[in-house]
Amino acid sequence: MQYERELRQTQAFLTEHDDFLVVAHVQPDGDAVSSTLAVGWLLSCLGKKYVMVNEGPIPKRMAYLRQAERIVDLSAEPLNRKFDYVICVDCADFKRVGTTKELFAEGAKLLNIDHHPTNDGYGDINLIVPHAAATAEILFDLIHFMGLELNETIATALYTGLLTDTGGFRYSNTSPKVMAAASKLLEYGVDGPGLSELLLEQMTLSQLRLLTRSLNGLQLTEDGKISWVVVTDEDLKSAGAVHEDMEGIVNYPRNIQGVEVGLLFKVIDEQAVKVSMRSAGKVDVAKVAQSFGGGGHVRAAGARVEGTLDTIVPRVVEQVRLQL
Ligand code: 5GP
Ligand code: MN
Repeated sequence: MQYERELRQTQAFLTEHDDFLVVAHVQPDGDAVSSTLAVGWLLSCLGKKYVMVNEGPIPKRMAYLRQAERIVDLSAEPLNRKFDYVICVDCADFKRVGTTKELFAEGAKLLNIDHHPTNDGYGDINLIVPHAAATAEILFDLIHFMGLELNETIATALYTGLLTDTGGFRYSNTSPKVMAAASKLLEYGVDGPGLSELLLEQMTLSQLRLLTRSLNGLQLTEDGKISWVVVTDEDLKSAGAVHEDMEGIVNYPRNIQGVEVGLLFKVIDEQAVKVSMRSAGKVDVAKVAQSFGGGGHVRAAGARVEGTLDTIVPRVVEQVRLQL
């Protein structure tokens, strides 16, 4: 009932206004990019004007997504204007929109579409479905609710969001509903195996170099329940890697038998570290992430923490230990 009411409010927001800004979280993943494009597509269907923006560049790997090149990289192309109507997708909290908030007009109306249980409902309209595997799943429902007909392009985007946020339909968020949606999307001609190969199997050489280099420094607590890996700027440079090449590294410490929580510490700059957390199920890492100002899901969460590695690593490990 609540879902239907929120879907109706969302539809009203989209149909009653015009000239939208569509944004997703910083360092966008498959779900963030796909959801941005899905909202864009939906707005095109309604004949609306809109601009899609991200704080930084879209991962190169996602260049196959039609219209991805239309997502403005704000770090490379400043926009000298503001928007009264903003749609945030896959952003667990307002901070996650990053520098794109400079484009929000004062008093701008915000539509918040997200699937993170830690989402605090920062929008004027909120379409938050904590049990949805991906924001793309919510958009799949919204498109259906609005009576729009999918095509291969949009189906490919939605499938991308489902595929990446479920780790290839393997994580515990892979509900019967996700599989039914994926099945429907395949009927529109989505190349499922091709996308799995591209997004989940293939690695660039620098990605592999970064992985081997960082796994060399893998750490484990004495009880074998917490394991972590650190990636510094120097690691990135020496591997010739970029930020998106760190995706997936956090799974390695988590995959060790007996490990309950795997962590990845990525040095952002001298002031901050990004922590990625993965749980085997016993520990709610969203809770741990929240205690550091971040958020996420029970089994996958993250936070940006101010400080240096030597202080942050022991603090986070200690917080995890308390949850065990
Ligand atoms: P990842 O470790 O892959 O970057 O993120 C794992 C999960 O935690 C994702 O669902 C992501 O949206 C969430 N997450 C990552 N970093 C942050 C953060 O800084 N703040 C919040 N609220 N959520 C985050
Ligand atoms: Mn997501």
